[in-house]
Amino acid sequence: MALTEEVFGINVFNDAVMRQRLPKETYRALHATIDNGLQLDPQVASVVANAMKDWALEKGATHYTHWFQPLNSVTAEKHDAFISPLPGGRVISEFSGRELVRGEADASSLPSGGLRSTFEARGYTAWDPTSYAFIKDHILCIPTAYCSYGGEALDKKTPLLRSMEALSSQAVRVLHLFGRTDAVRVTPTVGPEQEYFLVDRTLFDQRSDLIFTGRTLFGAKAPKGQELGDHFFGTIPSRVQAFMAELNEELWKLGVLAKTEHNETAPAQHEMAPIYTIVNVACDHNQLTMEMMKKVAKKHGLVCLLHEKPFAGVNGSGKHNNWSMVSNTGYNLLDPGDSPHESAQFLLFLVAVIKAVDDYQDLLRASVASAGNDHRLGGCEAPPAIISIFLGDELTEILESLEAGKDYSGREKTDMAIGVQVLPKIPKDTTDRYRTSPFAFTGNKFEFRSLGSAASISDANVVLNTIVAESLRLFADELEKAPDFRLALHELIVREIRQHRRILFNGNNYADEWVQEAARRGLNRLESTVDSLLCYTAAKNITLFETHRVLSAAELRSRRDIGLDAYAKILNIEAETMLMMVRRQILPAVIRYSGELSSSLLKAKEAGCPMPVCSGLLRSLNSQTEDLLRASETLGQILSSRLSDSDPLAAAAYMHDRILPAMREVRRCADALEVMTDQDIWPFPTYDRLLFSI
Ligand code: ADP
Ligand code: MG
Repeated sequence: MALTEEVFGINVFNDAVMRQRLPKETYRALHATIDNGLQLDPQVASVVANAMKDWALEKGATHYTHWFQPLNSVTAEKHDAFISPLPGGRVISEFSGRELVRGEADASSLPSGGLRSTFEARGYTAWDPTSYAFIKDHILCIPTAYCSYGGEALDKKTPLLRSMEALSSQAVRVLHLFGRTDAVRVTPTVGPEQEYFLVDRTLFDQRSDLIFTGRTLFGAKAPKGQELGDHFFGTIPSRVQAFMAELNEELWKLGVLAKTEHNETAPAQHEMAPIYTIVNVACDHNQLTMEMMKKVAKKHGLVCLLHEKPFAGVNGSGKHNNWSMVSNTGYNLLDPGDSPHESAQFLLFLVAVIKAVDDYQDLLRASVASAGNDHRLGGCEAPPAIISIFLGDELTEILESLEAGKDYSGREKTDMAIGVQVLPKIPKDTTDRYRTSPFAFTGNKFEFRSLGSAASISDANVVLNTIVAESLRLFADELEKAPDFRLALHELIVREIRQHRRILFNGNNYADEWVQEAARRGLNRLESTVDSLLCYTAAKNITLFETHRVLSAAELRSRRDIGLDAYAKILNIEAETMLMMVRRQILPAVIRYSGELSSSLLKAKEAGCPMPVCSGLLRSLNSQTEDLLRASETLGQILSSRLSDSDPLAAAAYMHDRILPAMREVRRCADALEVMTDQDIWPFPTYDRLLFSI
């Protein structure tokens, strides 16, 4: 058997294992729970728990954990051994249904954004049976949601599951209008493409900035960057190939559908894309992917950098979130189809997405906001901070002709009702045009390209699911009441295209003209995380999330505050690291170099042969050093005069407005010194070695 088939899912308590190990009735009951999102019966849970434990013990597991995703974008686990004491000093391995379904977590150190006060620090975790349990490092991991005792979401999974429900119920209403009464459930599907960098471990270990912040805070450009385009899709170096092979194997064992691997644009940058799956599983799998990338890299003497912008001057890393919706009857709702009936339905779902993106540009931007991603969005390498949609020429023409009352070939239409014609085949765009767009239609799905490489994909998909649910809700409300469905459908589609065409843009999103054009069209331009996160608590957005029971006002506030707090803390760590490197490494190094230069100069003078080159170099070295000293003193002052007890918004705004510019200046001075200092004296590895040594 091929390796893939042999190892795929061997560490997963998946459907095949359940079918094999569970009594028929239990299996059927569990399936009903999973398929219909019902509560799990305690008796069923206890049978499942026992089977799961036996399976895990056979695989060498000793502990179990409720594996969850707190609000800081990593995963959390607390291990419990399967043991229960027996009389006579012996133990028995036990795992009850209660332990499977619900756990307690005293997680007072995890962020809650004020939702949970310390005196009631305990939260509880609840199994998400739609995501299979798996074994990782001898631990049985049970994917769970994490809530406070009051039921408030303290994690990234709970709102994702809620948003899936919201989307499903509204999409089903719309499908019923088209006579698809066999549709009872619609599920968002996602395939996230994960970008990352690999650097040599010994070089990484010499850089405090990489160690503490995941990115280089200093570094002059290497003579070569990505300008030759010779890295993208290039031959994969054997060391990287070995890493990828092991990564794939580890992911396959965990049931992750790792599919595509290639070199990315920047030197030392790569990408892995899995085959798409239902969004909550895609999210769990992406968290596992990031964890495995880090782990496997270590074994190969490498470090995997997931930061959005580890190096200035070359591309940063993102995560393209390919998103669509599938019905329980197997229809991809964003597939144009090839009958008139399907075309009309497709157009309605398409317009629902267009409306959603236009109405909630701010939320989409907020959902990808982080300190790291701020370096990337708008940097002419990633989509700009302005959200717009690329549809491609064919689809745009179709919408335009609908709006103008013409048929697709431009003829005056006699029958105004939609759906009498099959849409022309819409080609999957293969050109590079949409690469600059934040939100592109790619044949049968949308690709949201603004996500950061290090972030959980949950936030973006919570927003996507919810805003599309809202469009569909409004559409269903209107169409369910209509006396003539076809006529109402036509009117609705034409009206919505007209109302939201400003969000459509097929041109170059990097061009300055687009920034001006977008301003004329009244599109949002939220450049920083601080501005973006405030959108979470705008009145219209609270109403949206509360209408669909995805997040309450308090939960939204907590998410906003946690985001702002994280932003301020990240910048604080970066600034502290920067100062440490300047004071303990860069200044001592340049002073030593300038000492060497002075003594050579002195010797030369004594020997009667002055060295003008040397003295020129010394002069500029000294003046740059003074600049660096001044810039770092300024940064130090700004850093120490921040208010420690200010509210999250004020703290984040201070870091953005005051610290960032001061850090930029320190870096400018240090990078200027780097290029004039003896390589053997410079205190840490430079870009040429970091980016080109593997
Ligand atoms: P490209 O490389 O041109 O962007 P691919 O077809 O290779 O397009 O798809 C990229 C990602 O999109 C993969 O993860 C793939 O599984 C995912 N994808 C494909 N179809 C869907 C869909 N219907 N829903 C969600 N993701 C999808
Ligand atoms: Mg793609």
